[in-house]
Amino acid sequence: MSKYYFPKYLQLKQSGELDERAEEFNQLLTHCTLCPFECGINRIEGEFGACNAGFEPRIKSAHANFGEIPELSGKYGCGYISFKNELSGDEYVNESEETREFEIEELAKQMVSLQIRSCHNISFVTPTNYAAQVIEALSLAIEGGFILPIVWNCSGFESIRVLKLLDGIVDVYIVDFSLIRKNLSLKDNSKSAAICEAICGAVREMFKQITSIIINKEKILNHGIVIRSYDEMNSFCNDTGLLTELAKEIEVKHKEGKLIIDNRKEIKNKRL
Ligand code: SF4
Repeated sequence: MSKYYFPKYLQLKQSGELDERAEEFNQLLTHCTLCPFECGINRIEGEFGACNAGFEPRIKSAHANFGEIPELSGKYGCGYISFKNELSGDEYVNESEETREFEIEELAKQMVSLQIRSCHNISFVTPTNYAAQVIEALSLAIEGGFILPIVWNCSGFESIRVLKLLDGIVDVYIVDFSLIRKNLSLKDNSKSAAICEAICGAVREMFKQITSIIINKEKILNHGIVIRSYDEMNSFCNDTGLLTELAKEIEVKHKEGKLIIDNRKEIKNKRL
């Protein structure tokens, strides 16, 4: 464990690679393959796929969140930016919160503003459908002085190509198995098997990218993987056996201190 950490995305920005990756992400939007559903529609032209996400990011909420694990919430909260995602479960949904579209510049300003409020990181919740816009916003935010670690809070049902484009940009992956519950409860077992296969590949790609945990002197997680709702994943394993091998790998890495398991049942989105 090291006490000091600078996000690697700052180097990527300096070398021009961050903007190249933003361009690659934009290419994916023209034949959308941002998630394993691979709808192939052109979102830049206004077409909609299975997730019903348009071009401009739809954001549910952007505020300091004190409901995360202590290693992410710390004293001043994590900068919580939650995207509307019709394919995910409802763990983070507060029905009273309206969603609205954010332009990329506004998203960048929001990131900088949460940094000014002393948040310890920016935690993007279910961001994958808007990964292209998020990376463009990150590039703009860096120009505005942004330096916080990026937390990618997702379901684990991710495309390997997208994860490879996020390598060195994301500092902390949260894989929340409760977010995939809706999809895993499919009656069609062949679909469940395909989803589980995609999850296994994605989580193993995260293991390749992030091999250790870094916690800073304020006891904040700056680099690492958090596995959330692991118990829920285990019960799914017992029912179907599809994620059993992955569950064992997670347990080994947890015992070696290479990832954090979060099995809390209480609220994960809490404003003060
Ligand atoms: S992000 Fe949405 S449109 Fe793109 S592949 Fe996934 S479900 Fe389809």
